[in-house]
Amino acid sequence: MKTCMIKTNKICKSFVTDGEVNNVIKNLDLEIYKEDFTVIMGSSGSGKSTLMYLLSGMDKVTSGDVYLKERNITHCKEKELASVRRNHIGFVFQGINLIPDLTIRENIISPTYKSKINRRLLIHKVDDLLEQVGLKEHENKFPSQLSGGQMQRTAICRSLINEPELIFADEPTGALNSSAGENVLDTFTAIHENGQSIVMVTHDLKAAVRGNRVIFIKDGRIDGELELGNFQKEESEEREKTLFDFLKERGW
Ligand code: ADP
Ligand code: MG
Repeated sequence: MKTCMIKTNKICKSFVTDGEVNNVIKNLDLEIYKEDFTVIMGSSGSGKSTLMYLLSGMDKVTSGDVYLKERNITHCKEKELASVRRNHIGFVFQGINLIPDLTIRENIISPTYKSKINRRLLIHKVDDLLEQVGLKEHENKFPSQLSGGQMQRTAICRSLINEPELIFADEPTGALNSSAGENVLDTFTAIHENGQSIVMVTHDLKAAVRGNRVIFIKDGRIDGELELGNFQKEESEEREKTLFDFLKERGW
């Protein structure tokens, strides 16, 4: 039996632009489970990023409810939401957004300034993370001295430093060439194997097969779901084929 981390109850999100209402998310019910690597797919503009912002408390629903571990966060004030995010959630984005004036190590530590984490433990944790993603020798460099893939792996370490229960990643390989992307995906696979729960938005097949569960969004609704089981490298091609068929049936 899987533990539910996030649950939505008929969430809707509408934007009003120049008097025109755009209903982006429509009565969507979804559960995200602990220790899953959940992938959200859908064509460009289908509402993937919007959904991710609603699930993670970065944006508010127009109607419906979002529960984070049984707690209804729908009506939390911004300050409360910020603390929920800080204590439970890590983020990785396509535009890597490291702080240019801080070293790699300092960037990774930057989200901890408000957390109660023990400083000595913190030093060990950063060392472990740097080691895990192969960046130990670069810890004193600045972001501009690293490749795109190295920067994104730094961002993954930063998202993990407060030991979040769940990581959200929005197109984390979207700005990378394929070999850098592959490295970043290997990092996601490794942290998933360590028990980290992940939700990743992507339209890249190679990225999507890293997940064990794929959810397809169309017109603001869930249009299908695929169970893939945990990733095994030697099964990559088979998984891509299974996923491709699933997507094709849905007009991908
Ligand atoms: P995806 O990530 O799947 O490409 P998005 O969630 O970014 O799609 O966008 C879905 C739709 O919502 C698009 O039509 C987009 O223009 C609209 N949208 C997203 N964010 C905003 C916003 N802040 N204001 C107005 N419209 C928005
Ligand atoms: Mg998007």
